[in-house]
Amino acid sequence: METMKPSKKPQITYLIVTLVIFLVLNVLIYNSMIKRPTQETSYYTFMKMIDEKEVKAANIESNQIVFTDKDGNQYKTGIINDEDLYKRLYEADVDFGAEIISQSNPIIYYLVTTAIWIVGIALLWRFITKRMTKKLGDSPDLMSFGLGDGKSNARVYVKSTSGIRFRDVAGEDEAKDLLTEIVNYLHEPQKYTEIGATLPKGALLVGPPGTGKTLLAKAVAGEANVPFFSISGSEFVQMFVGMGAAKVRDLFKQAKEKAPCIVFIDEIDAIGKKRDSSLSSNDEREQTLNQLLSEMDGFEGNNGVVILAATNRPESLDPALLRPGRFDRRIPVELPDLKGRVDILRVHAKKVKISDNVDFDVIARTAAGASGAQLANIINEAALRAVREGRRCVTQEDLMESVEVVIAGYQKKNKIMTNKEKLTVAYHEVGHALVAAMQTNSAPVTKITIIPRTSGALGYTMQVDEGEHNLMSKTEILNKISTFTGGRTAEELIFHEISTGASNDIEQATKLARAMVTRYGMTDDFDMVAMEHVQNQYLGGDTSMSCSDETATKIDQMVVKIVTEQHAKAKQILTDNIGKLHEIAKFLYENETITGEEFMEILNAKPESAANASENAAENAAENPTENA
Ligand code: ADP
Ligand code: MG
Ligand code: ZN
Repeated sequence: METMKPSKKPQITYLIVTLVIFLVLNVLIYNSMIKRPTQETSYYTFMKMIDEKEVKAANIESNQIVFTDKDGNQYKTGIINDEDLYKRLYEADVDFGAEIISQSNPIIYYLVTTAIWIVGIALLWRFITKRMTKKLGDSPDLMSFGLGDGKSNARVYVKSTSGIRFRDVAGEDEAKDLLTEIVNYLHEPQKYTEIGATLPKGALLVGPPGTGKTLLAKAVAGEANVPFFSISGSEFVQMFVGMGAAKVRDLFKQAKEKAPCIVFIDEIDAIGKKRDSSLSSNDEREQTLNQLLSEMDGFEGNNGVVILAATNRPESLDPALLRPGRFDRRIPVELPDLKGRVDILRVHAKKVKISDNVDFDVIARTAAGASGAQLANIINEAALRAVREGRRCVTQEDLMESVEVVIAGYQKKNKIMTNKEKLTVAYHEVGHALVAAMQTNSAPVTKITIIPRTSGALGYTMQVDEGEHNLMSKTEILNKISTFTGGRTAEELIFHEISTGASNDIEQATKLARAMVTRYGMTDDFDMVAMEHVQNQYLGGDTSMSCSDETATKIDQMVVKIVTEQHAKAKQILTDNIGKLHEIAKFLYENETITGEEFMEILNAKPESAANASENAAENAAENPTENA
């Protein structure tokens, strides 16, 4: 059984240690206290020892003589018809006639052996009941045995020793501010109680994966310098099958004893999922959740137990968990903005040797949309690359390459592509880039490559915004859709044939167009009516429809119309610039990679064929003043 795995080994060790101690003690005590072994000696030796006054006491029994020497050693010898014996013994001052048993007190002997047996049996019994507890699961009395003794639960409640501080968490200033208050409270509770303020009992960190929720909770523990109980929701469910509720109870019992302290429940959605009336409901999880709810009600706001929890699925949590008095403070931990990304890169760059001329700003801009975890990974990948290339420190180039690794995967150097395929990919990518460059409001092209990546991409066009983008206008979305269609359009124009290479573009274009219709209210027909709802905002953003079938049909038609229009627009742009398309695609085919500067240089260069080209250039300049400048 999987749940027993972690504890199996320690239990066997426990049994062996018990047995060894038991045996060793028994042997030791037996030897030292009970009886020294009786040595057989000859009658001659006995006589000799009497003469040398070595014998202390002797007892003549019917068939043997037992005697002891001055040191307490015991001997025996056979009987010989010796009439002088008593006289000789008397003269040698030997105590005789009394029975010789043993020097040690028989009462102590019995007490000690009994005690050994009792201890031994008690230890064994404990071992057996422990195993039973694991098997029986939720019989409450048995369970209290294994709980809270710190040994079997070592993995569950970990006191923070990581020493992570707020300074290790970059960006996320709002979250840090909110958490700082909790830290201050734990330091000086009287300041708050004096004025009558009660601290929020629980704070819930919500945000996409890898944004530093777990890290923030650890930092709170590091700053507050109080005991930190950390457990993850899935551990409640997995490690202690049938014992979730008891585990919650035990956790809170321990926390109350250690107050002030912090209890951190990571991935709380594993236990805090909405209870529903569906048949597939999970009793075990519901019990655990109910126990958690009642524990959170059960202690006063001022007793110094602060509960932190983290999740990336806040929408799936039970509403009862979120009501005031439980997790009443919700701390959003969002993807970092440009400044946040720069800060995170700097924090992690401290851990590696990095050359002085690295421009974190450029890297942060290239890695738009990356989470903290991805940024940490970028630094590490760069360091690994530096080692591979035999360098002593990380350079800008390492970092830029590792951004691409994190976004698109490693380069697949030995992937075999035919020249025709390579050419197709080159035209496809330049198609994207040209459509982007010829429209207003799209981010400048910074790099195009046709080196295949492990993610499956055969090439890609990188566009990097100058600054942060928080809003997207309708024009921008339309231009983006048109850019997505640009790749396929180039294939159509040049090869009069289409390939599977555009599947991802199609998906993205459709997603944007659909969102315009159903969520952004960007069509005249539906005005500001939502037809879809986002279900999990932090994990992929799946949506659910909420409209009639007729409307759904209409939505589909409108989505098709939007994409078709943009596709036509892209076709127009590429037809107008077909000379540039050929020129840049040729360059890309030969070099495999083209930088933003090289791209703009070719684009802005006076074309050889004068007439229609100068016309194009004028058009470009009018249409696209910023990019061409
Ligand atoms: P989650 O939000 O999924 O719990 P984690 O806290 O586990 O994310 O973050 C994973 C790793 O990403 C951290 O260990 C850290 O190295 C890095 N990281 C994420 N966010 C930040 C941040 N704001 N500052 C510094 N490092 C971060
Ligand atoms: Mg986490
Ligand atoms: Zn494409």
